[in-house]
Amino acid sequence: MYPKKYKYTFMMPRCHKTLFPTPLESSFIAIYVLETLRVTDSFEHKINEFVEAHMFIIDQEVQLFLKKPKPIQDEHTVESIYSGMAGIALLYNFYANKTQNKNKTVEAKHIIEKCLSILDENSDSVTYLTGKSGIFVTATEIYRDLGDIKNAKKMIEKVVDLLPLALNQKMPDVLLYGRAGYLYSLLLLKKLGWEDPDRDKLIRKVVTSIFNNGIQTCDRDKPRRTSLMYKCHNKKYLGAAQGLSGVIHCLLLAKSYLTKNELDDLIKPALDYLLTLRYKSGNLPVSLCNDPDRLVQWCHGAAGVAQTYALAYKVFLDEKYLNAAVQYADIVWKRGLLTKGYGLCHGVSGNSYTFMSLFQLTGKTKYLYRAARFVDWCLTTGRQNRIPDNPYSMFEGVSGVTYALMDAQDPIAANLPGF
Ligand SMILES: [Zn+2]
Repeated sequence: MYPKKYKYTFMMPRCHKTLFPTPLESSFIAIYVLETLRVTDSFEHKINEFVEAHMFIIDQEVQLFLKKPKPIQDEHTVESIYSGMAGIALLYNFYANKTQNKNKTVEAKHIIEKCLSILDENSDSVTYLTGKSGIFVTATEIYRDLGDIKNAKKMIEKVVDLLPLALNQKMPDVLLYGRAGYLYSLLLLKKLGWEDPDRDKLIRKVVTSIFNNGIQTCDRDKPRRTSLMYKCHNKKYLGAAQGLSGVIHCLLLAKSYLTKNELDDLIKPALDYLLTLRYKSGNLPVSLCNDPDRLVQWCHGAAGVAQTYALAYKVFLDEKYLNAAVQYADIVWKRGLLTKGYGLCHGVSGNSYTFMSLFQLTGKTKYLYRAARFVDWCLTTGRQNRIPDNPYSMFEGVSGVTYALMDAQDPIAANLPGF
């Protein structure tokens, strides 16, 4: 159980009164309190029992990691947010802030400093989720929370120092492995309050490079069907992690750095093009390679792209983007209880964020109800048919599920890490 002082405040969506409640959502009241939209005491108890049990299991792994000797010289290590211990440091810091437990911030510091000490300086991986910038940004947050501003600033410098690598022509553009993932780190620093006009110029440089590459890739296509396209591993992916929609998502997050022409003539046509590629079911294909209509998860398919169209609606206020977000979210509701696992990247806890995003956009409690049902599914063990590659990790394993369980208790602010 969390200490009693752990209570979040909840901001009511403006449209809440007109949209709430409908008879269909009667079982919603078992999960969230109608008047406040807070989780009920019994649901909070249920969630937090799992959170504590998960934290205990993860802690065993952390202890092993902290005792691990330094890797031998040619063993290249980047303990990433996605699959490594930096993701667990992020979880510990998140937990510390949610529970006001400073000890966990100190533990997060030990983890991230170990990640930094074994980091392969020669790695050219720069993204937030799988690269070095994610480790540096997480270290920045942890140092800031401990009041160590000097070290926090050192970490920011390390993020900035990655710029030449991020702009290297060999670097892909996609969120998981490339430039858009580096852009995300720069934007996150700004969101965390680290304002800097020089870094603003740097953000603009990265944005320009992403646009230029997207245009060039299209220019090679005959006939030209879209304004932007990106390749990853020689394939034109479309989803959040490795594809066009994930890059667009990051560019939309950088909206204040874009010109009106870029928004109208580059981003909007690409969003419209993606809508033409939908399967008959409405789901988004994995790539332009005739993939079967199989995947409904954050990394590929409806769960990730729903959040991108929700964001696009906020930027453009075009009803067709709202409709697309709603349609994708409906697909996640029908097909998104994945037996492959509970994780954030391609599992049920990740898919719960689709509904959080739609709830934040529309204020409709049916999305909160759906998110809660998906979260509740993660509390029922034995429903996944394979062990993830990285079972303790943030994006494939139990750390991500734990993060989502805590995030579900603050639906207005809930946000999938790295997106
Ligand atoms: Zn995945």
